[in-house]
Amino acid sequence: MLQLMRRVHFWFVFIISAAVIAAASVAAPAQQPEFDLRHIDFRTEGQTALSGDWFFSHGSIMTPVNAHTAYLEGSMNTVAVPNSWNAHLPVNADNPHHAGYGSYVARVRLPKAMGTKLVLDVLRISDSYEIYWIPINAPEKAWRIASEGTMTGPLVASHGYKGHTMAMADDGLILINVRGEQTSKNGITEPLTLYDATTFQILVQMERLLEGILIGFVLIVGALNFSLFFFHRKDAATLVLTLAAAAILFRMISVGGSIETVLGPEWRGVRLRLETANIFFLLWTATLLNQALLWQHIRNWRFSLGFGLVCGVLILICAVAPLQVVTDLDTPITIVVLVSVVTVLIGCGVGILRRVPNAGFFFISWLAMTLAAINDATNSPYFVHTLKTLDIAFVMGIMAYSIQVGRRVISAINRAEFLEEERTLLQKLHQDAVDSARLDHLTGLLNRLAFDTELAHAWLQHEKEDEPLSLILFDIDHFKSINDSHGHQVGDRVLQSLASLLKDIRLRKSDRICRYGGEEFALILPETSGKDARKIAERIRKSIAGHTTDCSDDLTLIVTCSFGVASATTDHSDDPSRLLERADAALYRAKANGRNRVECHRMPNTMVTHADPAHSA
Ligand code: GH3
Ligand code: MG
Ligand code: MG
Repeated sequence: MLQLMRRVHFWFVFIISAAVIAAASVAAPAQQPEFDLRHIDFRTEGQTALSGDWFFSHGSIMTPVNAHTAYLEGSMNTVAVPNSWNAHLPVNADNPHHAGYGSYVARVRLPKAMGTKLVLDVLRISDSYEIYWIPINAPEKAWRIASEGTMTGPLVASHGYKGHTMAMADDGLILINVRGEQTSKNGITEPLTLYDATTFQILVQMERLLEGILIGFVLIVGALNFSLFFFHRKDAATLVLTLAAAAILFRMISVGGSIETVLGPEWRGVRLRLETANIFFLLWTATLLNQALLWQHIRNWRFSLGFGLVCGVLILICAVAPLQVVTDLDTPITIVVLVSVVTVLIGCGVGILRRVPNAGFFFISWLAMTLAAINDATNSPYFVHTLKTLDIAFVMGIMAYSIQVGRRVISAINRAEFLEEERTLLQKLHQDAVDSARLDHLTGLLNRLAFDTELAHAWLQHEKEDEPLSLILFDIDHFKSINDSHGHQVGDRVLQSLASLLKDIRLRKSDRICRYGGEEFALILPETSGKDARKIAERIRKSIAGHTTDCSDDLTLIVTCSFGVASATTDHSDDPSRLLERADAALYRAKANGRNRVECHRMPNTMVTHADPAHSA
């Protein structure tokens, strides 16, 4: 009995084991990709990645039913997502990017009661795509969750970063049909993530906020640099920084997908060209700026021009070459990035060793940019729901440079202002010195030296323009007696008082009144006839005679003057000294004829006497 039981037991175990092994061997080949999320509480965990193996087929769009059948049969290849599908497909020279259709399928099992909406974040799928949810037990009830771009007809690319609300439940397949074209890295090239809808919204808003702040910073930096350039054009670094800020701004906006969103998908080609050209431009300006700021000048012109030439050629290629060539410039981009980063870092390193101010500052900002770029290139797409490390590093870098340039420009402006002030002061001092050499110390009138110069000048004018010229000499009457009676100080006071009266007399701009010497004055009257000069002399004589000088509380003096008037003649032998002689002769006659009067010198034998009627009466 025991024997029998043992045999039965043996066969029982054998048959069961064989059945299990057989069943397992039948089921095994499928290896269907599956994301079992039943244990995930999206409300607390917020998100989960759908990165990993997916079924993939290339060549045509799959219908949900086809996808369901193929999934269950396990008749598709498995590929890792995210990845460009070029990586999985054989090289095809005629179609290097494997332009055409590809389909991705994976099973997703969701918790029974999620209590929240889900969002599938696809970041960017080039170039058009549609997403289906296929209930595992009812493929005929599949529905489309999202559709971007065009799956047939003319291709419209969906350049943007999208999250699609997933109306899906329980257990089903996600089918993603993708239409790619020649210039893209086709397929699902960015991580797919399922988010709790609220978490997704918060992330998107934080991302927009950060983007806004960064764009704001770049705008401010650009505007500041431009205004510095506007006020101080000598420092071209501010212009280069303005252009760099514009380039960074363009990069931020274009990478975020705004250009096609705003202008339309047909701008994709232009955007791709500008975006690539922009990289070369930015890196070249960075090497220039670094030298200009570290060493105060472009230290290595040969390298800068050579590198600029290479970048210029690459920019030209971006402008004119077929778009496919432009989007395949990965190798030149890598080389240019390496050359610029390495040279800039070496430059900063040498600067640090030679204790150049701010070299450490630049080194750190460049290191930050390099690390951020490495992070972005190897790890995560910086533009979506992740810290925008490269943009932050760019903003930090351009701010570091701007601070440096700003300091330099402001100190240059200050220096220029200081020099301008100094110049104005020196000019004033010079003018004062010239004036004081020309002015009489006691009266502030033009002195004898100035008189000689002014008379010579007026004479030249008279000869050149053939205009009349007159001269009045006048002398205080009995001045010696004032000195003698009241002392020299009173005499001086009288001279000063008379001078201030003379300064107030209304004359033409070209007339010059001078202290000729002692108590004698001269008035040069260009473009004035003898007749008019006599009238002026008479007017002055009357003013002086009616003028009182308060010398002290109990001393008020009135002085008179005698006047001699002469005019230049058209005679070629006439000259300033003869004019002066004639005026002096007329003055002498005024003295001789009783003082406080005007005498005019005409030509010999035409002396005219003009006396104050009141005085002479
Ligand atoms: P007349 O009417 O003939 O001109 O007589 P006068 O006394 O004015 O002429 P005179 O040439 O005899 O005397 C001129 C005086 O003017 C002599 C000199 O002491 C005085 N004088 C010249 N320059 C100055 C000055 O700067 N200050 C003072 N206080 N006196 C001066
Ligand atoms: Mg006198
Ligand atoms: Mg005199």
